[in-house]
Amino acid sequence: MPDDQAPQQRPGSASLRSASRVPLVAANWKMHKTVAETEEFLDRFLGELDGVPGAELVVCPPFTALAAAVARAAGSPVRIAAQNVHEADAGAFTGEVSIPMLRELGVAGAIVGHSERRQLFGETDVALARKLQALLAWGLEPILCCGETQAQREAGATETIVRRQLEADLAEVDAAELGRVVIAYEPIWAIGTGRTATPEQAQEACAVVRSLVAERDAAAGESIRVLYGGSVKPDNAVELFEQPDIDGGLVGGASLDPNDFLAICRGISG
Ligand code: PEP
Repeated sequence: MPDDQAPQQRPGSASLRSASRVPLVAANWKMHKTVAETEEFLDRFLGELDGVPGAELVVCPPFTALAAAVARAAGSPVRIAAQNVHEADAGAFTGEVSIPMLRELGVAGAIVGHSERRQLFGETDVALARKLQALLAWGLEPILCCGETQAQREAGATETIVRRQLEADLAEVDAAELGRVVIAYEPIWAIGTGRTATPEQAQEACAVVRSLVAERDAAAGESIRVLYGGSVKPDNAVELFEQPDIDGGLVGGASLDPNDFLAICRGISG
Protein backbone atom coordinates (compact mmCIF):
# COMPACT_ATOMS: atom_id res chain seq x y z
CA MET A 1 0.00 0.00 0.00
CA PRO A 2 1.26 3.55 -0.54
CA ASP A 3 2.98 4.99 2.52
CA ASP A 4 0.45 7.79 2.90
CA GLN A 5 -2.34 5.23 3.33
CA ALA A 6 -0.52 3.23 6.00
CA PRO A 7 -2.30 3.40 9.32
CA GLN A 8 -0.10 4.27 12.25
CA GLN A 9 -1.48 1.74 14.66
CA ARG A 10 -3.46 -1.41 14.09
CA PRO A 11 -5.30 -3.79 16.37
CA GLY A 12 -3.07 -6.75 17.20
CA SER A 13 0.09 -5.01 16.04
CA ALA A 14 2.79 -5.25 18.66
CA SER A 15 5.50 -2.72 19.32
CA LEU A 16 7.97 -5.50 20.12
CA ARG A 17 7.68 -9.09 18.99
CA SER A 18 5.61 -10.87 21.60
CA ALA A 19 7.54 -13.34 23.71
CA SER A 20 4.53 -15.66 23.46
CA ARG A 21 5.19 -16.25 19.75
CA VAL A 22 7.93 -18.80 19.10
CA PRO A 23 9.81 -17.75 15.95
CA LEU A 24 9.70 -20.14 13.02
CA VAL A 25 11.85 -20.50 9.91
CA ALA A 26 10.61 -22.78 7.13
CA ALA A 27 12.40 -23.99 4.00
CA ASN A 28 10.30 -24.34 0.84
CA TRP A 29 12.33 -26.49 -1.51
CA LYS A 30 9.71 -26.42 -4.28
CA MET A 31 10.52 -29.05 -6.97
CA HIS A 32 14.13 -29.46 -5.88
CA LYS A 33 16.07 -32.32 -4.29
CA THR A 34 15.90 -36.06 -4.76
CA VAL A 35 15.85 -38.42 -1.79
CA ALA A 36 19.65 -38.67 -1.87
CA GLU A 37 20.01 -34.87 -2.04
CA THR A 38 17.52 -34.46 0.82
CA GLU A 39 19.48 -36.85 3.02
CA GLU A 40 22.74 -35.13 2.16
CA PHE A 41 21.29 -31.71 2.98
CA LEU A 42 19.88 -32.83 6.32
CA ASP A 43 23.09 -34.62 7.30
CA ARG A 44 25.08 -31.46 6.63
CA PHE A 45 22.51 -29.07 8.11
CA LEU A 46 21.87 -31.08 11.26
CA GLY A 47 25.58 -31.75 11.65
CA GLU A 48 26.18 -27.99 11.90
CA LEU A 49 23.03 -27.12 13.82
CA ASP A 50 24.05 -26.57 17.38
CA GLY A 51 20.56 -25.37 18.26
CA VAL A 52 18.68 -22.23 17.30
CA PRO A 53 17.51 -21.12 20.73
CA GLY A 54 13.81 -20.56 20.95
CA ALA A 55 13.05 -21.06 17.26
CA GLU A 56 11.17 -23.77 15.39
CA LEU A 57 12.65 -25.03 12.13
CA VAL A 58 10.63 -26.65 9.35
CA VAL A 59 11.83 -28.16 6.07
CA CYS A 60 9.35 -28.74 3.21
CA PRO A 61 10.78 -31.13 0.63
CA PRO A 62 8.88 -32.54 -2.38
CA PHE A 63 6.43 -35.39 -1.65
CA THR A 64 8.89 -38.04 -2.84
CA ALA A 65 11.48 -37.06 -0.22
CA LEU A 66 9.14 -36.62 2.76
CA ALA A 67 9.63 -40.10 4.25
CA ALA A 68 13.40 -39.89 3.98
CA ALA A 69 13.38 -36.40 5.46
CA VAL A 70 11.25 -37.46 8.43
CA ALA A 71 13.62 -40.38 9.09
CA ARG A 72 16.74 -38.21 8.79
CA ALA A 73 15.32 -35.42 11.00
CA ALA A 74 14.05 -37.76 13.73
CA GLY A 75 15.29 -36.65 17.15
CA SER A 76 16.40 -33.26 15.78
CA PRO A 77 14.74 -29.84 16.24
CA VAL A 78 13.68 -29.89 12.56
CA ARG A 79 10.10 -30.78 11.61
CA ILE A 80 9.13 -31.86 8.13
CA ALA A 81 6.14 -30.43 6.25
CA ALA A 82 4.67 -30.85 2.76
CA GLN A 83 4.30 -28.15 0.12
CA ASN A 84 0.66 -28.90 -0.67
CA VAL A 85 -2.09 -31.33 0.27
CA HIS A 86 -5.59 -32.33 -0.81
CA GLU A 87 -8.42 -31.65 1.59
CA ALA A 88 -10.23 -35.01 1.17
CA ASP A 89 -9.17 -38.03 3.22
CA ALA A 90 -9.25 -40.26 0.13
CA GLY A 91 -10.98 -40.42 -3.24
CA ALA A 92 -10.79 -40.14 -7.01
CA PHE A 93 -8.29 -37.27 -7.15
CA THR A 94 -5.55 -38.41 -9.51
CA GLY A 95 -2.12 -37.11 -8.58
CA GLU A 96 -3.14 -35.75 -5.19
CA VAL A 97 -1.90 -36.62 -1.69
CA SER A 98 -4.14 -36.65 1.40
CA ILE A 99 -3.58 -35.55 4.97
CA PRO A 100 -3.82 -39.10 6.42
CA MET A 101 -1.07 -40.12 3.95
CA LEU A 102 1.15 -37.32 5.23
CA ARG A 103 0.37 -38.10 8.84
CA GLU A 104 1.33 -41.72 8.33
CA LEU A 105 4.79 -40.53 7.29
CA GLY A 106 5.20 -38.34 10.36
CA VAL A 107 4.80 -35.09 8.43
CA ALA A 108 3.97 -32.19 10.75
CA GLY A 109 2.18 -29.76 8.45
CA ALA A 110 1.83 -28.35 4.96
CA ILE A 111 2.29 -25.11 3.05
CA VAL A 112 -0.99 -24.11 1.42
CA GLY A 113 -1.80 -21.35 -1.02
CA HIS A 114 1.72 -20.67 -2.25
CA SER A 115 1.51 -18.12 -5.06
CA GLU A 116 3.01 -20.63 -7.49
CA ARG A 117 0.14 -23.00 -6.75
CA ARG A 118 -2.40 -20.21 -7.01
CA GLN A 119 -0.98 -18.87 -10.29
CA LEU A 120 0.33 -21.98 -12.05
CA PHE A 121 -2.08 -24.64 -10.80
CA GLY A 122 -5.28 -22.66 -10.35
CA GLU A 123 -5.53 -23.17 -6.59
CA THR A 124 -8.66 -21.39 -5.40
CA ASP A 125 -9.55 -19.76 -2.11
CA VAL A 126 -12.49 -22.17 -1.83
CA ALA A 127 -10.13 -25.15 -1.95
CA LEU A 128 -7.74 -23.43 0.46
CA ALA A 129 -10.49 -22.87 3.02
CA ARG A 130 -11.20 -26.62 2.94
CA LYS A 131 -7.52 -27.51 3.16
CA LEU A 132 -7.00 -25.33 6.21
CA GLN A 133 -9.99 -26.78 8.00
CA ALA A 134 -8.89 -30.35 7.19
CA LEU A 135 -5.26 -29.80 8.25
CA LEU A 136 -6.35 -28.39 11.59
CA ALA A 137 -8.87 -31.18 12.12
CA TRP A 138 -6.09 -33.74 11.58
CA GLY A 139 -3.72 -31.90 13.91
CA LEU A 140 -1.29 -30.74 11.21
CA GLU A 141 0.12 -27.23 11.07
CA PRO A 142 -0.86 -25.14 8.02
CA ILE A 143 1.49 -22.49 6.65
CA LEU A 144 -0.88 -20.31 4.62
CA CYS A 145 0.70 -18.02 2.01
CA CYS A 146 -0.73 -14.71 0.87
CA GLY A 147 0.59 -11.70 -0.98
CA GLU A 148 0.15 -9.27 -3.84
CA THR A 149 1.61 -8.87 -7.32
CA GLN A 150 3.79 -5.95 -8.33
CA ALA A 151 0.88 -4.35 -10.21
CA GLN A 152 -1.42 -4.71 -7.20
CA ARG A 153 1.19 -3.10 -4.94
CA GLU A 154 1.68 -0.23 -7.38
CA ALA A 155 -2.09 0.26 -7.47
CA GLY A 156 -2.11 0.58 -3.68
CA ALA A 157 -4.15 -2.63 -3.38
CA THR A 158 -1.87 -4.68 -1.10
CA GLU A 159 -4.18 -4.58 1.90
CA THR A 160 -7.27 -5.24 -0.23
CA ILE A 161 -5.67 -8.31 -1.81
CA VAL A 162 -4.35 -9.73 1.45
CA ARG A 163 -7.69 -9.09 3.15
CA ARG A 164 -9.58 -10.83 0.35
CA GLN A 165 -7.24 -13.84 0.45
CA LEU A 166 -7.24 -14.24 4.22
CA GLU A 167 -10.97 -13.69 4.66
CA ALA A 168 -11.69 -16.39 2.10
CA ASP A 169 -8.96 -18.82 3.10
CA LEU A 170 -9.62 -18.61 6.85
CA ALA A 171 -13.42 -18.62 6.46
CA GLU A 172 -13.86 -22.20 7.73
CA VAL A 173 -11.39 -21.89 10.62
CA ASP A 174 -12.98 -21.37 14.05
CA ALA A 175 -11.75 -18.31 15.91
CA ALA A 176 -10.44 -20.61 18.64
CA GLU A 177 -8.26 -22.40 16.07
CA LEU A 178 -6.93 -19.35 14.25
CA GLY A 179 -3.79 -19.13 16.38
CA ARG A 180 -2.72 -22.57 15.14
CA VAL A 181 -2.34 -21.31 11.58
CA VAL A 182 0.99 -19.86 10.47
CA ILE A 183 0.60 -17.15 7.84
CA ALA A 184 3.40 -16.33 5.41
CA TYR A 185 3.17 -12.92 3.78
CA GLU A 186 4.94 -13.38 0.46
CA PRO A 187 4.80 -10.49 -2.00
CA ILE A 188 4.84 -12.20 -5.40
CA TRP A 189 7.24 -9.62 -6.80
CA ALA A 190 9.83 -10.70 -4.24
CA ILE A 191 9.57 -14.48 -4.69
CA GLY A 192 12.57 -15.91 -6.50
CA THR A 193 13.44 -12.50 -7.92
CA GLY A 194 16.26 -11.51 -5.59
CA ARG A 195 14.17 -8.39 -4.87
CA THR A 196 13.41 -8.47 -1.19
CA ALA A 197 10.77 -6.27 0.41
CA THR A 198 12.40 -3.67 2.63
CA PRO A 199 12.10 -4.43 6.34
CA GLU A 200 9.60 -1.53 6.53
CA GLN A 201 7.46 -2.88 3.68
CA ALA A 202 7.55 -6.39 5.13
CA GLN A 203 6.71 -5.14 8.63
CA GLU A 204 3.85 -3.02 7.38
CA ALA A 205 2.26 -5.90 5.45
CA CYS A 206 2.81 -8.42 8.27
CA ALA A 207 1.15 -5.97 10.66
CA VAL A 208 -1.81 -5.84 8.26
CA VAL A 209 -1.98 -9.64 8.29
CA ARG A 210 -1.94 -9.67 12.09
CA SER A 211 -4.59 -6.98 12.31
CA LEU A 212 -6.86 -8.88 9.93
CA VAL A 213 -6.63 -11.93 12.20
CA ALA A 214 -7.18 -9.70 15.24
CA GLU A 215 -10.39 -8.38 13.69
CA ARG A 216 -11.78 -11.92 14.00
CA ASP A 217 -10.18 -12.75 17.32
CA ALA A 218 -7.98 -10.42 19.34
CA ALA A 219 -6.13 -13.22 21.13
CA ALA A 220 -5.39 -14.99 17.85
CA GLY A 221 -4.07 -11.73 16.41
CA GLU A 222 -1.59 -11.63 19.25
CA SER A 223 -0.57 -15.28 19.14
CA ILE A 224 -0.59 -16.09 15.41
CA ARG A 225 2.79 -16.38 13.79
CA VAL A 226 3.32 -14.25 10.69
CA LEU A 227 6.32 -15.03 8.50
CA TYR A 228 7.85 -12.99 5.71
CA GLY A 229 8.83 -14.74 2.48
CA GLY A 230 10.45 -13.38 -0.67
CA SER A 231 14.19 -13.57 -1.41
CA VAL A 232 15.21 -13.96 2.24
CA LYS A 233 18.99 -14.43 2.29
CA PRO A 234 21.67 -14.67 4.96
CA ASP A 235 22.48 -10.98 4.51
CA ASN A 236 18.93 -9.64 4.91
CA ALA A 237 17.38 -12.14 7.33
CA VAL A 238 18.32 -10.41 10.57
CA GLU A 239 16.76 -7.03 9.77
CA LEU A 240 13.60 -8.68 8.46
CA PHE A 241 13.30 -10.97 11.49
CA GLU A 242 13.88 -8.05 13.87
CA GLN A 243 10.60 -6.44 12.84
CA PRO A 244 7.98 -6.59 15.58
CA ASP A 245 5.26 -8.30 13.54
CA ILE A 246 7.55 -10.71 11.70
CA ASP A 247 7.94 -14.02 13.51
CA GLY A 248 10.30 -15.67 11.07
CA GLY A 249 10.56 -16.53 7.40
CA LEU A 250 9.50 -18.83 4.59
CA VAL A 251 12.62 -19.30 2.50
CA GLY A 252 12.79 -20.66 -1.04
CA GLY A 253 16.01 -20.46 -3.06
CA ALA A 254 18.36 -19.75 -0.16
CA SER A 255 17.07 -22.78 1.75
CA LEU A 256 18.54 -25.18 -0.80
CA ASP A 257 22.06 -24.64 0.49
CA PRO A 258 22.58 -25.95 4.02
CA ASN A 259 25.08 -23.21 4.90
CA ASP A 260 22.82 -20.42 3.68
CA PHE A 261 19.78 -21.88 5.43
CA LEU A 262 21.78 -22.30 8.60
CA ALA A 263 22.90 -18.67 8.45
CA ILE A 264 19.27 -17.57 7.95
CA CYS A 265 18.08 -19.71 10.86
CA ARG A 266 20.76 -18.24 13.07
CA GLY A 267 19.44 -14.80 12.11
CA ILE A 268 16.21 -15.51 13.93
CA SER A 269 17.97 -15.59 17.26
CA GLY A 270 19.89 -12.42 16.56
C1 PEP B 1 8.98 -19.10 -1.67
O1 PEP B 1 8.94 -19.76 -2.68
O2 PEP B 1 8.16 -19.29 -0.76
C2 PEP B 1 10.03 -18.09 -1.54
C3 PEP B 1 9.92 -17.20 -0.60
O3 PEP B 1 11.03 -18.16 -2.47
P1 PEP B 1 12.38 -17.27 -2.48
O4 PEP B 1 12.94 -17.27 -1.09
O5 PEP B 1 13.29 -17.99 -3.46
O6 PEP B 1 12.00 -15.92 -2.93
